[in-house]
Amino acid sequence: MGLTLAIVGRPNVGKSTLFNRLTGRRQALVDDQPGVTRDRRYGDGRIGEFTFRLVDTAGFEDAKGDTLEARMRDQTERAVGEADLILFLIDAREGVTALDQHFLRWLRKQHRPMVLVANKAESKAALSGLGEAHRLGLGDPIPVSAEHAQGLDLLLDAIRDKL
Ligand code: GDP
Ligand code: MG
Repeated sequence: MGLTLAIVGRPNVGKSTLFNRLTGRRQALVDDQPGVTRDRRYGDGRIGEFTFRLVDTAGFEDAKGDTLEARMRDQTERAVGEADLILFLIDAREGVTALDQHFLRWLRKQHRPMVLVANKAESKAALSGLGEAHRLGLGDPIPVSAEHAQGLDLLLDAIRDKL
């Protein structure tokens, strides 16, 4: 069995890159264009000795029709429902966008432990975004770089704190 973690967030924040990083996969379904992740993907994640089941989600790219909110729900509801903990990803360089906030409003209602992960934090461009993220009231955003494998030890600490 073990724990299930779900990676959620708007398109292009680096969810699939983080999934690949934590599962050691390299056949990356990563792309500059939103919409590459067609389904939820499952993998065996690992940070150091800590192992878990990991779910990558498409955000809302895959759904058709309906409102934005409905599409996001449709896409992530199951993943969130079966997760013990949510990794809510934002792009640290962009800070908190309206879509992030929209997403978060829905996520808060799901009553799951959540870690706020500020990805793409490998450069100074991330600093202001981290400040903004702090104000979301989800605790310290965890700066990581999925692409450069940075901040994963901090992420592990944050996950353990919530479990
Ligand atoms: P998703 O839509 O949330 O699954 O995002 P992807 O994983 O497909 O990544 C979207 C884009 O962000 C791709 O061009 C990635 O290479 C890039 N990306 C992902 N992680 C990082 C990171 O840590 N730093 C930077 N600079 N770019 C990243
Ligand atoms: Mg993706």
